[in-house]
Amino acid sequence: MTTIGVLALQGAVREHIRSVEECGVKAIEIKRMEQLDEIDGIILPGGESTTMRRLIDSYGFFTALQEFGKKGKPVFGTCAGLILMASEIDGQEHAHLGLMDMKVARNAFGRQVASFEAELSIKHVAEDFNAVFIRAPYILELGPEAEPLATYNDRIVAAQQGHYLCTAFHPELTEDNRVIQHFVDMVKNSTKTLAS
Ligand code: GLN
Repeated sequence: MTTIGVLALQGAVREHIRSVEECGVKAIEIKRMEQLDEIDGIILPGGESTTMRRLIDSYGFFTALQEFGKKGKPVFGTCAGLILMASEIDGQEHAHLGLMDMKVARNAFGRQVASFEAELSIKHVAEDFNAVFIRAPYILELGPEAEPLATYNDRIVAAQQGHYLCTAFHPELTEDNRVIQHFVDMVKNSTKTLAS
C-alpha cells in the first residue's frame, strides 16, 4: 500500500496525517531517519523553518532527506517546508535542503497581514481553493524546470518541479483535500515509475 510520511520533528503534523488518510492512503509520522525506507513520499509540514532545520540536523535527517528526493521519491513542502526545499532564501547566506530551484522570501506578506485566507486557482488542482496563509513565505524566482501553480497578488505561492511540490499556504488546515490528493497522486504515479 502507498505510504506517505510526515516529518514529525515540529509543526503541523497531525493535520497532515488526517488529510493523507482521508485521501485513502497510509500516513505515518517520521521521527527517525530509518523510517524513510518505509515510505513512498514525504510531507515537510509548516512550523518554523530555522527550528525545523536545527532538528533535521540533530536527528541526522539532512543528507537522508536530500537522498530521498534524489531517488525520485516525491517531497511536498508546505509553508516552512517550502522554505526548507528552496535552493535560495532571500537575505540569508545559506539555504536548507535545496531540492527545488527557487528563491523564496520568508514572512513575505508582512506582519500586518500575518495570517489570512484567500481563494486561489491552482493549476492541475482546483479553480477555487480556500488557502490558509500563516506568516507565509512566497516564491521570488523559479528555475526553468519548475512550474508555478498558483499566485496571490502576483506572488507565486505554489509550484511543482517534477516530483517536488510546494505551497506557501497550509492545505491541511481545511476540509478540502484536493491539494493533498494531488500529492497523493504524484506519489502513486512515482511508485509505478520507480517500480518499472
Ligand atoms: N514563517 C515561518 C518560517 O519562516 C513559516 C510559517 C509557517 O510554516 N506557517 O519558518
